[in-house]
Amino acid sequence: MNKFEALGIEARVVKAITELGFETPTPIQEQAIPVLLKEEKDLVGLAQTGTGKTAAFGLPLIQTVDFQSHHTQALILCPTRELCLQITKDLQSYTKYMQGANIVAIYGGASIVNQLRDVKRGAQIVVGTPGRMVDMINRKGVTLKTVKRVVLDEADEMLNMGFKEDLDMILSETPDEKCTWLFSATMPREVESIARKYMADPFQITVGKRNEGNVNIEHVYYVVHSRDRYASLKRIVDYYPEIFGIVFCRTKAETQEVAEKLIRDGYNADALHGDLSQAQRDQVMKRYRSKSLQVLVATDVAARGIDVDDVTHVINYNLPDEIENYTHRSGRTARAGKTGISIVILNVREVSRVKILERIIGKKFTKARIPGGHEVCEKQLFSLISKIHDVEVNEAAIAEYLPQIYAQLQDLSKEELIKRFVSDEFNRFLDYYKNAPDLNVENRSFEKSPDRGERGERPERSGERGESTRRVPERDSNMTRFFINVGEMDGLDKGGLLRFICDTSNLEGSNIGRIDVKSSFSFFDAAKEVEDFLLNAFKGSTFKGRKVRIDPADSGNGNSGGGGGNSFGSGKRPYGGGEGGWKKKRFESSQDFGGGNSSGGNSNGPRRSKFAKKSH
Ligand code: AMP
Repeated sequence: MNKFEALGIEARVVKAITELGFETPTPIQEQAIPVLLKEEKDLVGLAQTGTGKTAAFGLPLIQTVDFQSHHTQALILCPTRELCLQITKDLQSYTKYMQGANIVAIYGGASIVNQLRDVKRGAQIVVGTPGRMVDMINRKGVTLKTVKRVVLDEADEMLNMGFKEDLDMILSETPDEKCTWLFSATMPREVESIARKYMADPFQITVGKRNEGNVNIEHVYYVVHSRDRYASLKRIVDYYPEIFGIVFCRTKAETQEVAEKLIRDGYNADALHGDLSQAQRDQVMKRYRSKSLQVLVATDVAARGIDVDDVTHVINYNLPDEIENYTHRSGRTARAGKTGISIVILNVREVSRVKILERIIGKKFTKARIPGGHEVCEKQLFSLISKIHDVEVNEAAIAEYLPQIYAQLQDLSKEELIKRFVSDEFNRFLDYYKNAPDLNVENRSFEKSPDRGERGERPERSGERGESTRRVPERDSNMTRFFINVGEMDGLDKGGLLRFICDTSNLEGSNIGRIDVKSSFSFFDAAKEVEDFLLNAFKGSTFKGRKVRIDPADSGNGNSGGGGGNSFGSGKRPYGGGEGGWKKKRFESSQDFGGGNSSGGNSNGPRRSKFAKKSH
């Protein structure tokens, strides 16, 4: 027997949802459906979007509605237009085999005349946003006296958005003896008071722990300097080549700015915020939904109700003003039983907020390190390899060129060929990241340092902004100056030397300070506490076959090599002109060439569709 049938869902509906790919009920469906089918009871469901909550109330709802009647029997209220349309669409698909079903969406930003007409035709189920519903009621366009079920979906969001009065007004139009089903991702006091006011002894369902977000979401935070926020974002995006993410910003201006920077830097990104027209927002969402956009940069309000499955990462570029909204943000990933990562980028002063977030989600965060250039390159390399492995070959199109290609490559062995094909793409990333700075702020070393103020954040100095600048601990009594007998003549620059030191000693870059590369030797500073460790680690070490020696240098000569700025890395994307990006290039399929993508088409070097992403 079909598992939904076993819960009491009738055959016509089972047929429709089977076509949608529903085979096994989700936990919330398993709990809610039998109760809502059998009992005339109020219900409070603590569940996020992505848990299958629409079907959890939608399936029992459509079975309690008489579709031969023209009266409005059910009202579903939800916070946003997007969610309103999504619920309507879902219910329409569940009722595909039910004759006479008329489910109408009532939302702002569209013609009210058409909506009035649609309701007048006899809508048994009305799905509405509160503001427009109030308009409809005032115009006597909808009668709620015959309503038997009211669903309040994302109740916390509706209250957050200031719909309390509208809800009171709408609910006062409905009969007292109706059943009310309330769903909310969080249960703040306001929602509890709504539940108390409008519901009698409700049946309660909690998916996961109370106030716990989706269990499939891993919560991670990074600590960086505020000025490195953007560079860190890029690093994270690069570290996850398959990312399909939403970046949350606090304001419209910040959203626009971050999106513009990403676009300029060659990422396949776009902005979604309230200053865009509805048509522009629809366009952005269409591109995101179809995955021709990889990264959506959004404000909380604009992203409400985004119901895109498969979002792999949510990135909190800045935390929301209302910290409770973190749950809504993170709930955009790990939908429909999938897993996802919710990332928070924090500066040192914000670290204490992790505790608050942990209380809100009822779950621990993991502290992670912004990946270094080497790690990013490795990730990108293997992503590239698997893409080459899986690429679909268009035999017919390539056939005519093959004889000439084979002839041209005949002197190369398979190993040589592999190396060259991969390097052609990979070198750009290696170049870009070869001197990438460490963007992490080491809490520990800040706490220890006596001269860095209470919070341990070093004051910003001019010339220390941006990805191209490496933040190093200032030289102080906690540092030891080392001499090392390799330098420019060995092909090393600051980044190369730093990498060599770190690789040889297994120390993190944060232990190393100023580096001065000379022609045949160099100086570098290292934390005093790792002095012995370093001396030991370099015993017997070599560089390109040459024996390497390090010695503590004369500390009185601390400024040798002076001033030279700690400018590591070019700060440019690995593509031509410093503007283009691997990201963008890879993400554009051949059909995308020449348009449809606001990332612009001119900043890149030659695009090579052979590595273009096919689809997610
Ligand atoms: P929701 O929480 O209602 O937004 O649902 C999230 C996603 O899960 C939607 O794309 C649904 O179509 C899908 N979904 C809901 N229930 C099931 C199920 N039992 N099996 C498979 N997919 C489902």
